Amino acid sequence: MTSKMTRPAAVTFDAGNTLLYCDPNPSEIYAAQLSRRGRSVHAKEVGPVFRQAWAEMQSRTSPGQDRYSSAPGGERAWWGDFVKEVLGRLDHDAPWEPLLDDLYAAFSDDGVWRVFPETITTLSELRTRGLALAVISNWDRRLPDILRSLDLIDWFEVVTVSAIEGVEKPSPEIFQRTSSRLGVDPSSTLHLGDAPLEDYSGARNAGFAAILLDRHDLFVDQPYRRISSLDEVLEIVDSTMTGPSVFSF
Ligand SMILES: [Mg+2]
Repeated sequence: MTSKMTRPAAVTFDAGNTLLYCDPNPSEIYAAQLSRRGRSVHAKEVGPVFRQAWAEMQSRTSPGQDRYSSAPGGERAWWGDFVKEVLGRLDHDAPWEPLLDDLYAAFSDDGVWRVFPETITTLSELRTRGLALAVISNWDRRLPDILRSLDLIDWFEVVTVSAIEGVEKPSPEIFQRTSSRLGVDPSSTLHLGDAPLEDYSGARNAGFAAILLDRHDLFVDQPYRRISSLDEVLEIVDSTMTGPSVFSF
């Protein structure tokens, strides 16, 4: 499939590992909290288990169905089930409820979230070019507070969060709601994110143009329009603004 875009009117962004990241990484945070509540574990032991538990939890909802609001008990219950998955797979002795409280507090702490070095300059440059900006994220209800604490939220006309919408990427619905709130046509909207399915395919299926942010060059040989740093989008946007050029995928 080839999609063409002349001048975009809006750019939408994924949040995690696109605009911002977690430092220490989630495995390190889990390892520290687990070790406080029970036997000592290292992040290297937690890492693969964390990914398996994430995949298991993801498999419990169909793609596009919001995981957090579909759990009886809401997002905190979802995270409780996730923590139990991690504990079970590690055969760890920490009690799940106090551990969940600790983890919930740890990830709500402003201090663990960082903005990539080129994020603000890229947003600023896009704003200078007259583009509307938005976030489209599969996240729980805490994302707006995190964006606020990082001084990011004011860059965006619209912030669309799956747990609040009740629908998540890759469903076209969450993309189309966002372009509609921005007042732009999907075909004039460019989405940037690091996940091939949720971001790239999801956006394309919603009629958006898409670029995969591939910071670690994992998808060099695959047929994605890709960049390895957020600020590379500027050159692409500029190429659509000077004369009749379009960019094709
Ligand atoms: Mg992401």
